[in-house]
Amino acid sequence: SKEKFDAIVVGAGPSGNSAAYTLAKAGLKVLQIERGEYPGSKNVQGAILYADALEKIIPDFRDDAPLERHIIEQRMWVLDDHSFIGTHYRSDDDDKPPYNRYTIIRAQFDRWFSAKVREAGALLICETTVEALLMDGTRCIGVRCDRMGGEVYADVVILADGVNSTLARKAGFHGEIQAKNVALAVKEILFMPEETIQARFNVGEESGVVIEMMGSVTEGMVGTGFLYTNKESLTIGVGCMLSDFKANPNRTSPYTLLEKLKRHPSIAPLIAGGEMKEYCAHLIPEGGFHAVPQVYGDGWMIVGDSGGFVNAAHREGSNLAMTTGRLAAETVIAAKAAGKAMDAKTLAAYKAALDDSFVMKDLKKYRDMPEVLHSSRQFFTQYPALLNRAAKTMFTVDGIDKKTKEREIFGSFKAARRWGGLVGDAFKLLRAFR
Ligand code: FAD
Repeated sequence: SKEKFDAIVVGAGPSGNSAAYTLAKAGLKVLQIERGEYPGSKNVQGAILYADALEKIIPDFRDDAPLERHIIEQRMWVLDDHSFIGTHYRSDDDDKPPYNRYTIIRAQFDRWFSAKVREAGALLICETTVEALLMDGTRCIGVRCDRMGGEVYADVVILADGVNSTLARKAGFHGEIQAKNVALAVKEILFMPEETIQARFNVGEESGVVIEMMGSVTEGMVGTGFLYTNKESLTIGVGCMLSDFKANPNRTSPYTLLEKLKRHPSIAPLIAGGEMKEYCAHLIPEGGFHAVPQVYGDGWMIVGDSGGFVNAAHREGSNLAMTTGRLAAETVIAAKAAGKAMDAKTLAAYKAALDDSFVMKDLKKYRDMPEVLHSSRQFFTQYPALLNRAAKTMFTVDGIDKKTKEREIFGSFKAARRWGGLVGDAFKLLRAFR
């Protein structure tokens, strides 16, 4: 068919839904194409939902969105094989509405979001894969699908097709995705009665806990683990850079790491009795600032994971996906209102809006982190062990005086890293987080 739309959105994850919703709400004629059986059927996330990004799109989302628990406590654990040392932050303020962060189950959440998109007036077609972008020279004029008559046309195509976007690559917008710029994460959902979760995690009927972990569990690979409380299930997962899995001399599989995490003496009692409901693996674009490709051109824009918009340091992805989707849509709406062509010059406003938002500001702040972590395995091996040992030394009461214990702790750090190493590591950390 030769039907033409104002915009075609490829993908119905958080970024595509945000773009399609915003466009349709403004009265534009929108076609959204999703390869999954239904939106969310293929999507994977921890998952923490950050309210702010969604609120800016659907202010009253709390009325009917499928939310699991709001987060009142954040734990950060540094593990060795037997123990952890960490910080917990818990606030009564976070237990008062409107809540700021929630756990969600993506399959349910994406379905809900998609229903909103259709209510707003967008046309959604599922079980349809976009195979290629239709180009007229450098201009993207539509998409070719594996169904529905093949070719569809639009003034602008928004690529919200997630990490490893083959479409942008095939069209030559950017190169092959690199193993050093993506993490491979695996996670399980473990069913557990609500009351058990509430008692084990010391929370109420609707509140929950997030545990973020790093240390010996990743065997020196750059990566982290997590444990989240849902309404009547727990999500536990672990992810490391794909390049590290490839280079791992033990050939440890992601699944083996997850099993190891589940057996850790500090984790095992929290998940005991949990019944596995779901297991999945997914890539996360964690290359950060330097890995963000060109995200607009003549008749096209890239949003969400497809553009590498993930803040790995803070485990934020879905909110960047939603914000980039919204900003891309707002750019199109403004251009259309002004009667401008959807060329690169007009769509550059999208990148300007990104630069002006927390999205690019945060990615820029952590721009050196991937490289620093990649070249500093000690943060995932020696330091977790040293910190845990220091805690053990200090808290064990054995007749040895505290001054001597202090000396022993400093001695263990110095022996492991030497003064030069310790000072160098301090600078590296400052550089990574500046
Ligand atoms: P996706 O959600 O991947 O959606 C892309 C969609 O496009 C899919 O529905 C796919 O089927 C469809 N598609 C792809 N190609 C085509 C095609 N050719 N034709 C048609 N359809 C296509 N973020 C957080 O904010 N909080 C968290 O706690 C969190 N935890 C995470 C834990 C894990 C294990 C993982 C893997 C990620 C996590 N993230 C988290 C990141 C977050 O999931 C992503 O940033 C977010 O899903 C990106 O949304 P998106 O819409 O860009 O992409």
